[in-house]
Amino acid sequence: MEIVELLLNNTVITILLFAAIIYSMIASASVKSTFAKYNKIYASSKMPACDVARQILEMNGIYDIQIVRVAGNLTDHYDPRKKIIALSDTVYGSSAVGAIGVAAHECGHAIQYAKSYGPIKARNTLAPVVNICSQAWVWVFMIGCALGSLFMAEVGIVFFSVVVLFQLITLPVEFDASNRAIKTLVDTGILYGEEVKGARKVLKAAAMTYVSALLVSLLQLLRLISSTRSRKR
Ligand SMILES: [Zn+2]
Repeated sequence: MEIVELLLNNTVITILLFAAIIYSMIASASVKSTFAKYNKIYASSKMPACDVARQILEMNGIYDIQIVRVAGNLTDHYDPRKKIIALSDTVYGSSAVGAIGVAAHECGHAIQYAKSYGPIKARNTLAPVVNICSQAWVWVFMIGCALGSLFMAEVGIVFFSVVVLFQLITLPVEFDASNRAIKTLVDTGILYGEEVKGARKVLKAAAMTYVSALLVSLLQLLRLISSTRSRKR
């Protein structure tokens, strides 16, 4: 009970939230610097990331996905509706360890869909609801506070909880895609030795941005709960 009280103490939460925001800033800077570092170290296989992606997909019996080039840096993603793996300018034609790691990670998502990986299905089911909740929660909460309606404020908090839940489910999805990526790169011999370590570092740095975003949201949620609790008293 004491721990619950402590966790719901506004001052403690505010301090932790501040720390989490700093951590998330460090995490996003770390992705950029780690990626920049390993985008200068080339794999001995000399295979460009777009070809690596094609090979990984074919190895997994996936032939209906297009690999396209998109503008920008770290804009790489998998679009399940369009069945497209979009690789950024810095990744697409590069045979650097970082680029290959990122391309393999996006393939990891495509494989998750092909194999009906549980958490990605849960994430997809939740996605339309999350879109509404992430837009609406702040309005519902603020109007609730302005009108003095505790019930409405609490509905806003429930909406925000759905967003936090979505971020939580995103974690296994991202970690699994990276694990699949590293395993395939090792198994195929596209990367080996120190090259694998480099790709792993890039993917780990990227995963940390999801962890830090979740931490920030979780503390924000606690703060909302704590402030409505103090209003109740
Ligand atoms: Zn991902």
